Amino acid sequence: MASSPTHPPLPPKPSEPLPSDCCGQGCMPCVQDIYEQELKTWKRECERIRRGVGPEEASSVLSPDSYSPCTLVAVRSETHDTNVYRCRPADGQVLRARPGQHLILKLETEKSSITRQYTILLPPRYDQESSSELSEFEVMIKLYPEGRASKIIAATWYVGQVAHWRGPIGGLEYSTNSVQFVVIFAVGTGVLPMIPVVESIVGDDEEEARVEALLGFRSMREVLAKQRWKDIAGYWNVKVDIFLSQDEGGDGNVRHFGEIHRRKMGPEDIAPRIERAKQRDTLFLVCGTTDFEKFVIGLLKASSIPECRIKKF
Ligand SMILES: Cc1cc2nc3c(=O)[nH]c(=O)nc-3n(C[C@H](O)[C@H](O)[C@H](O)COP(=O)(O)OP(=O)(O)OC[C@H]3O[C@@H](n4cnc5c(N)ncnc54)[C@H](O)[C@@H]3O)c2cc1C
Repeated sequence: MASSPTHPPLPPKPSEPLPSDCCGQGCMPCVQDIYEQELKTWKRECERIRRGVGPEEASSVLSPDSYSPCTLVAVRSETHDTNVYRCRPADGQVLRARPGQHLILKLETEKSSITRQYTILLPPRYDQESSSELSEFEVMIKLYPEGRASKIIAATWYVGQVAHWRGPIGGLEYSTNSVQFVVIFAVGTGVLPMIPVVESIVGDDEEEARVEALLGFRSMREVLAKQRWKDIAGYWNVKVDIFLSQDEGGDGNVRHFGEIHRRKMGPEDIAPRIERAKQRDTLFLVCGTTDFEKFVIGLLKASSIPECRIKKF
């Protein structure tokens, strides 16, 4: 008869990403980096449990290196398939984040665990200097009918549930007036990191950079964070263009966004912006599906835009 272990059950081993999970574009961190970090954390945790040592004392700030339990305190619907989840870290932990950063969510499945990355939706008018610590944070998550994480979130995330997060990671290091022009190409949930980034630019009284944002969605009902984009589009130094690839029209209340184009964002929209921006000191921000990012970065490189002027989220 097999002897039962004398220690509590070990956590499930993280699942290895599939080759198709990597977009091959040098993301930082790449899915493989995240997997290796997960594996190290898992081995450390198993070793700790086997040796009967108690959990490490929690730090007061959410950390990129270890997961913290966070309680779901509110859920609100953003669109038909996207929700905003408000989470409160346990034990009075806080989150220190800057615009464009994301967190890593770990979800346990029966046999293993999976991780997914989600942008921190910093509050509007978030001031890094005066309110750099958040006792609650929000993420906006689009749920895909066939998505592995999506299915778990849709089935199990109710107020009071606990989820495990680590971070923050990534983000944009931007200092006031470091460029003259910021051009954004983003589609779908890729627009989310751009919101706090642009808000931090327009919220800075000293900032003189102009921002041009080209945002793509399938239809008006899929536009994410409508009110925040409307507010952003109201600033003197921002121009927002929304591309709706499958929208037939009919929504009259759209003028506050700036310009609405009822077609897919294409090279005829992107290339002239790159050419125009080349005459000024410009930073290009890109985020969206793998294909979209490859396509835009290809156009930027073909126009000899140096890598230090391109930020992919
Ligand atoms: C840095 C970073 C930040 C991110 N921030 C957010 C965020 O704030 N909000 C958010 O909702 N997502 C965000 N994502 C995407 C997120 O991490 C997951 O990839 C997404 O939630 C799908 O996970 P899943 O397990 O449900 O789907 P998977 O099981 O991984 O995929 C199943 C199917 O869903 C579809 N799918 C998956 N991801 C996408 C996508 N991004 N676009 C189009 N189709 C897709 C595909 O058809 C795919 O075949 C971010 C990703 C990165 C890398």
